[in-house]
Amino acid sequence: MKNSLVILGAGESGVGAAILGQKKGYSVFVSDLGKIKEKYQNVLSDYDIDFESEKHSEEKIMEAELVVKSPGIPETAPVIQKLLAKQTPVISEIEFAGRYNSAKTICITGSNGKTTTTLLTYHILKKAGVNVGLAGNVGKSFAWQVAEENFDVYVIELSSFQLDGMYDFRADVAVLMNITPDHLDRYGYDMRNYISSKFRIIQNQTSADYFIYCADDEVIQKEIKKREINACSLPFGLSENAADGAGLREDQIIINFNQNQFSMSILDLSLQGKHNTYNSMAAGIASMVFKIRNEQLRESLADFKGVEHRLENFLKVHGIDFINDSKATNVNSTWYALESIHKPIVWIAGGVDKGNDYSMLDNLVGEKVKAIVCLGKNNAKLHAAFDEKVKNMVDVTSMEEAVKAAYYLARNGDTVLLSPACASFDLFENYEDRGRQFKREVRNL
Ligand code: ADP
Repeated sequence: MKNSLVILGAGESGVGAAILGQKKGYSVFVSDLGKIKEKYQNVLSDYDIDFESEKHSEEKIMEAELVVKSPGIPETAPVIQKLLAKQTPVISEIEFAGRYNSAKTICITGSNGKTTTTLLTYHILKKAGVNVGLAGNVGKSFAWQVAEENFDVYVIELSSFQLDGMYDFRADVAVLMNITPDHLDRYGYDMRNYISSKFRIIQNQTSADYFIYCADDEVIQKEIKKREINACSLPFGLSENAADGAGLREDQIIINFNQNQFSMSILDLSLQGKHNTYNSMAAGIASMVFKIRNEQLRESLADFKGVEHRLENFLKVHGIDFINDSKATNVNSTWYALESIHKPIVWIAGGVDKGNDYSMLDNLVGEKVKAIVCLGKNNAKLHAAFDEKVKNMVDVTSMEEAVKAAYYLARNGDTVLLSPACASFDLFENYEDRGRQFKREVRNL
């Protein structure tokens, strides 16, 4: 009798886990309460994997010996509660794939900067000729690749939801970018739960592994003091640092690792802004662990193309810069966007609030923002936070209106910044849709 594996959620990660499970001899059943995309239905059929769409047949699900859950399904979902009550192990796709993976892993998490740092690290390793794969939230799922590819190293982006389902997984190199409030609705509105989830990135690490983290992040610093860290610590930050890790001396990034020193002016980095200095440092240290030569690292940090929807300097229209930062779905990432711009800003903000506290933006908004275009179904919180600080605040309900209003309010030499600090699903499909609509409307001006 084959062991039975049930996969809940048939997106990229679930389908990957199903393929890997089947290859490893499980009897696999895939179940999704939503409609499974046609392309995934076809894949599952091609692999002869049993699945159901738009329902959960509980009887069948409860027979599972092991369940792999999509990160989108919360622990509170009734089906998960029933499985847990039965003591059925429920794990994430990364945990499952990790059991069969023999390649080295660089795992990157944080509240912000994950995708940018993951893609930058991948770019550096790939360009240096390493046989490297890209996984996690970006690209093809880790499990799918473990089933079908043969990489030596993986760079894996991990969200807290993925980390929540990880127990035995061990990262060779763990990278923790920062911890600021996000997704608190999924963590009982308790920051401690969210912090514990992020720190799972270093669970099971030994002295042979590495832990790269932001030394300027107070939450991380505080937590580290409370914990025993087994891995070799490689901190990065914006002050001088002589030990292994990365620091800043005047405008030079200095990275030390194992007697090797790398330096580069921040002006030569392709990614500009303070937050991107952090991202470049983290990717730089991880690459040095993999023995990438200094010249190669320098070249890659200089020629990386950036990532769409992340402070993407999209177009200049009549002397006005239009920047697409649609991926800024929390207040902290918007802080970095506002911080990095040195021109008067017309700020397009709003959407679905995830328990936002806008007070950290007070100074930057007071200093730089001349007008706010509120783009959300409910803009009450934005008004409460900024009505007194910003004279011009307008409400709109579509991207077309938002871009037109911003264009009207901006003058030659200003910047129009879409950096919502909120999720997008009140008016858009997702943040990509929001960013694309923004670019389309800017093109139409
Ligand atoms: P994530 O994958 O963690 O959501 P992204 O790289 O996609 O991170 O960037 C998300 C948003 O956060 C973008 O608006 C980006 O400009 C901003 N950002 C990128 N790196 C950082 C960082 N290190 N700290 C704070 N904000 C950042």
